[in-house]
Amino acid sequence: MSELHKFLFDGLPVRGAIVRLTDAWQEILKRRAANPATGAYPQPVTELLGEMSAAAVLMQANIKFNGALVLQVFGDGPVKLAVVEVQPDFGVRATATLQGNVGSEASLSQMVNQNNEGRCAITLDPLDRLPGQQAYQGVVPLFGDHKEKLEKLSEVLEHYMLQSEQLDTTLVLAANMDVAAGLLIQRLPLEGAGNLGKHWDSVARESALGQSEDYNRISILAKSLKAEELLGLDVDTVLHRLFWEEPLLRFAPLLGEEGPKFRCSCSRERVGRMIKGLGVEEAESILSERENIEVGCEFCGVLYHFDPVDAASLFTQLQASPPPGPAVH
Ligand SMILES: [Zn+2]
Repeated sequence: MSELHKFLFDGLPVRGAIVRLTDAWQEILKRRAANPATGAYPQPVTELLGEMSAAAVLMQANIKFNGALVLQVFGDGPVKLAVVEVQPDFGVRATATLQGNVGSEASLSQMVNQNNEGRCAITLDPLDRLPGQQAYQGVVPLFGDHKEKLEKLSEVLEHYMLQSEQLDTTLVLAANMDVAAGLLIQRLPLEGAGNLGKHWDSVARESALGQSEDYNRISILAKSLKAEELLGLDVDTVLHRLFWEEPLLRFAPLLGEEGPKFRCSCSRERVGRMIKGLGVEEAESILSERENIEVGCEFCGVLYHFDPVDAASLFTQLQASPPPGPAVH
């Protein structure tokens, strides 16, 4: 069963979380493999999308926000787009769009950053979004401070967290066909850090320095975790091996319905709205060539069929809705 564990280091300004996606991850891969239009992912894409899925769950677990967190990589290589969406209840879905052959040993840059033009975007899309309100989006390149191509998704996301959130973050990610897993360690923001500035007295400086040492030590321990340990060992064993000398305070694990699970938010209604968006002429043109408008969900593989009667009713509903009233000043 997929599981998410959050923890704190007692008295230290450091928090963490660890996730293991098992059944949820296997379901995502199974549905992709069953899609005759695409077939299964090549192994390097499985690993990338799995790492993205684990990271997106960790980031969703780390923010107080009622909405979907969407992690996307826009590639400039054979992987055109990889996207993971995590809802506030940890419902996860993920997909990747390929436009060329991915070699069995392809690196991150060979897949998504051949010309250093790949991008990684994180979008926070509030559930209770007001009309006209935009989702928040942050974008980072897939290269480091000296334009060197980054070969680990964890490094890309660590850059993002530092640049966008001013948060020191350590991530260890790994995925295979059975498990997508991740460990996140983060330095808690200093209280009133924004006010320190020039008035930073020696006591504050000393305590900040001490806090850095705590974070740095825990970060180095986290980084010593090998991919095969993260994938193959249970959470208790991983945390004990890494942090047995640290004052670890663990929260109750989130599993089952409370934890990460595969869930696709597509629906016939949403697809109907998309067809409406195409317009009457486009819909009629599709139906002049075939019996049904058929739309497949890239995330879960479900096929939605709209025959001419279904399609016509979409547009009559549209016309039946009251026209927008005149603007009131
Ligand atoms: Zn779906």
